[in-house]
Amino acid sequence: MYHIRASCLELIRDLDYDTDITFDQLNDNILRVFSQYSVNSDTAIITYFNKDNVELLLDQIEILPTNGDIFHVFVKKVWDCCSLCLQTFSITDDQLPMECLGKKCGYQYCHKCIKTLRGLDGQPFFCMFCKKQYAKLENGPKRNELIEKYLLWPQFSKKYGSESVTSLGIVLILDNLQSDLECRKAHLLSRSTTLLNKLFKRNVDVNEDMELNEVDQLLQQFELIQNQIQQIFNRMNHNTTVDNCLFEYREILSGNEDCYPSFIHLCQSLINYIEVFDNYSDPSLYQHEVTDYEETKYCVNDVNSLSSEDSLSSIKAILDDIMFRKKCLIPLRETLQLMLTDDLGQHPYTNYLNDEMRKVELMELSIKIIENKIINLHTIFTDINICITNYKNILKDDNNFTVDCSKFIRLCELLHMRIEQLEIEENFPQLTQLTNEWKDIYDNDNEFKPKIIQVLKAVEYDLVNKYGENRQYTPYTIPYKVGIIGCRSVGKSSLHNRLRNIETEYDPLFSPVAIEKSTFCYLQFDKIYSSNTDNNNNQIPISFIDIEGCTDIDSELKSGNYFEEICKVDCDLYLIVFDREFSKLELSWKKYIENTMNRKYLLVRTKVDSLFLDCYQQEFKIQFNNSQIIDEQKIKRILNKCHTIACKTQYNNKLEKVYLTASKYPRCDHLISNAYFSDFDKQQLIDDIIEIAIHDSREERLRKIAVITTAKLINTCFRRGYVVSVMKYKIAAGIASSIPFGDEIPRYFGREKVRQVFGVHNNSYITNKWNKTTNELQTYLMKYKLHILKNDMYTNAFSYLFDRTNTIEKIAVTRDDEGVGVKRKLVRSTYTKKIRMKDGDNNGKILKKIFPLTTSRALIAIGGAADAGIRLAAPTASWGLRVGLSVGLAGVGFVLAIPLCAWAAISNGKQMHNYLHLLCNDLLVLNEYFITTVINQCLQNNDELTADFGASTIESFPNLFELDDDMDCVLINRRQTTN
Ligand SMILES: [Zn+2]
Ligand SMILES: [Zn+2]
Repeated sequence: MYHIRASCLELIRDLDYDTDITFDQLNDNILRVFSQYSVNSDTAIITYFNKDNVELLLDQIEILPTNGDIFHVFVKKVWDCCSLCLQTFSITDDQLPMECLGKKCGYQYCHKCIKTLRGLDGQPFFCMFCKKQYAKLENGPKRNELIEKYLLWPQFSKKYGSESVTSLGIVLILDNLQSDLECRKAHLLSRSTTLLNKLFKRNVDVNEDMELNEVDQLLQQFELIQNQIQQIFNRMNHNTTVDNCLFEYREILSGNEDCYPSFIHLCQSLINYIEVFDNYSDPSLYQHEVTDYEETKYCVNDVNSLSSEDSLSSIKAILDDIMFRKKCLIPLRETLQLMLTDDLGQHPYTNYLNDEMRKVELMELSIKIIENKIINLHTIFTDINICITNYKNILKDDNNFTVDCSKFIRLCELLHMRIEQLEIEENFPQLTQLTNEWKDIYDNDNEFKPKIIQVLKAVEYDLVNKYGENRQYTPYTIPYKVGIIGCRSVGKSSLHNRLRNIETEYDPLFSPVAIEKSTFCYLQFDKIYSSNTDNNNNQIPISFIDIEGCTDIDSELKSGNYFEEICKVDCDLYLIVFDREFSKLELSWKKYIENTMNRKYLLVRTKVDSLFLDCYQQEFKIQFNNSQIIDEQKIKRILNKCHTIACKTQYNNKLEKVYLTASKYPRCDHLISNAYFSDFDKQQLIDDIIEIAIHDSREERLRKIAVITTAKLINTCFRRGYVVSVMKYKIAAGIASSIPFGDEIPRYFGREKVRQVFGVHNNSYITNKWNKTTNELQTYLMKYKLHILKNDMYTNAFSYLFDRTNTIEKIAVTRDDEGVGVKRKLVRSTYTKKIRMKDGDNNGKILKKIFPLTTSRALIAIGGAADAGIRLAAPTASWGLRVGLSVGLAGVGFVLAIPLCAWAAISNGKQMHNYLHLLCNDLLVLNEYFITTVINQCLQNNDELTADFGASTIESFPNLFELDDDMDCVLINRRQTTN
């Protein structure tokens, strides 16, 4: 019997197994026990500690003791994001997961948070998950090499297609190297150009920018390798390949009727002649059959088994074989030559022999020619190999040399992170300033500065600046983000190039087009368009984002994954690209974009050139050619037919509008390429995108960024203090002074504790200040007339905002004895409610535009689960989060739910802390309501912005937790089972 005690995030399970269990079975079994954390063999590893307390990967069953001792194992995975800053974990230094040293805990924080919180002098730290306290200077959470090696890096290697680089060295094909290089270059260029443009706008000096310099350096190295490739390419004789050399070589060895017999026969006949000379006998007596023995002796089968692969090893094998043949043939020839000179002209069979010698010479010559060709190939291959090795080396970081592409991945991730950060800063300058002001708050111990009213004012300021009366926002300042999605090889990259009018691969901003994967994660290119309809001839910035294609293979896993990809790029408009009949897979994306994300989409059918030709052939029974171009009627008819076909779907429904396109590069069908209609709907598509960009107020994307950024601020500045020192009551005091606790404080703490909490201040002062801010915040919030459903809140702190008109309580709320462990039931119909404004009309278009409640819905879903472990599992299990997701994932509520779950885990301690965190939860809910209301109100005041564009006007509230039935992917229904 094996006795195993497995732990995962403080959850402990004892497992017993018979000794005949295999390692794989054991592995699966252990992971299955923690399925609530959505661990599986792809996302988790099992570790143990050896005698010296070193953590090792459990990779064989022999390690387990059979003597009945309990063996401790630990299930590790990369958790969804840092619960302090909401940043997802990544391979960049700042985003590395740092693991709590509590063996059973292993909860992770990002490196940056740990660095900031502990400071240079190692400040005390408190793990909010397992409540482990790290004293001053004591080692805090640290990196776990096993997690990085087995979980983190493999995910990123996959994401950035490292396997294509790994496979380069196996078969040496120059084209593969070239296209891989082009592709990686395009990625680096697009990201660094985007970043540069952003930095340039803010007048940042980029000369000293370490990452950009590193990218430059890498791009220069790419250039060098491209030169090398070109040189090798010029030296190559493209008719000479390993394959045809080998073919010729085999032909030579098997003989040629006019010139020489097969290699074996030739060797054998030479041996005969030697014997004839020795005995002066008739050579015809010695003609005999080739036996099996001789076939073995001359390695006939070896020649047939030689590999024709383009690799150094196959070339080496051929050269070895040639060497062997020469060793057989040359000594025989030399012996005979010696005999000939001895008996020159005397022997009767000299003529026969001379004849034979010519054959030998011919064969030797033929072999020599092949040998030279192969030697030549060998030098070229060696050079290609050096080139590939160089390429691999420059893609790797010195300190991470075992992982292919480690440097490339790191740089891409860093650039991505910085671009995302700059986007936030561009859009929310006030909020950014506030964060910067407060982030080092732990340096001074005096008074807790962060005030919720300041957060709200900052976000309001930023939003009103965009949407309000004197708004700075125009479609000309915020780039419109257009994502291109579709299955792999449907022509996304071609479309991408065409939309930007890039027709040649020599353009530095060319998006690589290849049959193999040409896009890792995504490629972003910015382009400025001028509007046709806008009289002021304004410039409209549009960012096109080419998202990696979805593969049909293992569609269940991949398409679930693809929703994440779609979400992550967070675009205002999506182009759904397809090249066949519109399928259910594409339908699921369409619904997801429309309903769940509340974004716009357009449908684009690619590769219409061949569709056109087929239709023409069918309709007129002749093949289309240039002479028929003049008949515009016919062409119009066929184009209409193409439109009708493109609108058809696999599920008996018609699509409303589809744009037709054909690619210019690699090439549109030559029959069409010069025709006046060869662009199909391209121009129309571009015009429509521009038109939508002008009229779309991008509010959903901005709201999401606003909510997440504010939530980060609340989490880092208001809650984080708890982690630094659990006993720092001053922080609670800080919140108390800005939040109307009302009669809650005495109820929770009693007067004695309140005095401890406010130790440094005197009561009357606090009371006054408190009342003042209460009024201030309340007045401020009332200005916006926002109504919050009582059930969305955990405390009564904001009771003055509760929507009292809503008497139908569809949510069952029960409170436990302490009055804090709130249990709620999810009643779906309640959530179809839109935000209410006191005086506004509820039927206006604006109210349909955006909806709050995502945060609270997430909270409610979690609130139902009592056990801390399950709470943490709730969002994880339902979404199946993977490493490297940006915060822009799914709904806002989703992103917030993760750390909220984690914070919920600490709510079991002292009441004050409990209350503090419930209050912070409420702040998040309030925050989302507030931001939504501000945006809605601004939009309402701007009549010109209320025009409804695109297809995504929605009538009912999109339900985050339940997606459509015909969407056969993972998603969220499972959540409800945790209640
Ligand atoms: Zn963090
Ligand atoms: Zn811990």
